[in-house]
Amino acid sequence: MQGFNSWGATLAAGAVAATMGLSAVPAAADSAFVGIAMPTKSSSRWISDGESMVQQFEEAGYKTDLQYAEDDIANQLQQIETMMLKGVNVLVIAAIDGTTLSAALENAAASDIKVIAYDRLIRDSGNVDYYSTFDNFQVGVIQGTSLVDGLMERFPDDSPWNIEVFGGSPDDNNAYFFYDGAMSVLQPLIDEGKINVVSGQMGMDKVGTLRWDGAVAQARMDNLLSAQYTDTQLHGVLSPYDGLSIGILSSVKGVGYGSGDLPMPIVTGQDAEVQSVKSILAGEQYSTVFKDTRELARVTVGMVDALLKGGEPEINDTETYDNGVKVVPSFLLKPVPVDASNWEEVLLGSGYYTEDQVK
Ligand code: BGC
Repeated sequence: MQGFNSWGATLAAGAVAATMGLSAVPAAADSAFVGIAMPTKSSSRWISDGESMVQQFEEAGYKTDLQYAEDDIANQLQQIETMMLKGVNVLVIAAIDGTTLSAALENAAASDIKVIAYDRLIRDSGNVDYYSTFDNFQVGVIQGTSLVDGLMERFPDDSPWNIEVFGGSPDDNNAYFFYDGAMSVLQPLIDEGKINVVSGQMGMDKVGTLRWDGAVAQARMDNLLSAQYTDTQLHGVLSPYDGLSIGILSSVKGVGYGSGDLPMPIVTGQDAEVQSVKSILAGEQYSTVFKDTRELARVTVGMVDALLKGGEPEINDTETYDNGVKVVPSFLLKPVPVDASNWEEVLLGSGYYTEDQVK
């Protein structure tokens, strides 16, 4: 029932416009209902995405139905089907598994429901109209660059640096972009002998972390430490997401890093989750990547509005995101690197967090 009030206001505005003989108030907006399917509440970014979208869709006069599926694929499918039964005109989906929605989207297309892939590409379906996201390759470049900067800063005399590499969920298209972006920075240094991936584990098939699960990353880090690092110092870990970074940091702290004369390794991240910002301020996690979910919501609301009113959604990429059936027209926002040197300016300065939230 979210959005009922502003929904009523839109109807009223439509009625006024109709009596004034204006055709500019679109028929579509009069009945527009948006289903928003988000993956999980276990990460604060998706909560912000959902809240920002509901707020902005309502301000634009839409009715919304926001659902979270707690990383359960069947649950998300069920939620999407229920949204269609409730009569949504548009589905905005951040998929848990980007490959499992083809049949549901066939039904959506048959009912003329528009589909926006939100942040994560929906694969193997021709029924995806647009994709709103960040420059995911660039996210990886930022992570790789930050790892190298951190290694030079904390361990200037220790190259070749010993690192391990973690990837995101193999069922999330983004994970490959993050990995490839980061390796575009790290691979040349590995080839030059300046960085050593001690376990030799590289490639998404070896380093992927199903469902972006921090506990899985922590367990893998525990194993790596006991198998490879009893006599060798770990200098850095490429982590693609704050939830994994927290698990990795607990693991390394468990064997003494960050105390005595064993400095904390450089650990990257993504999403500027509150817990990780606190960790950066405490000198534990080295960096994260800020993706302003308010902006992603704004782009998405704009796309939906244009689609329903017969306009052209704003896009800035028509080449990168081939989902296996088609290249999905996309709008890519810019990710921003964050570490101890600029967190205040980026995260407080933009009003994304208040000081109280992160201290
Ligand atoms: C998102 C990241 C997020 C990850 C885990 C990815 O699809 O792009 O921002 O860290 O999922 O939730």
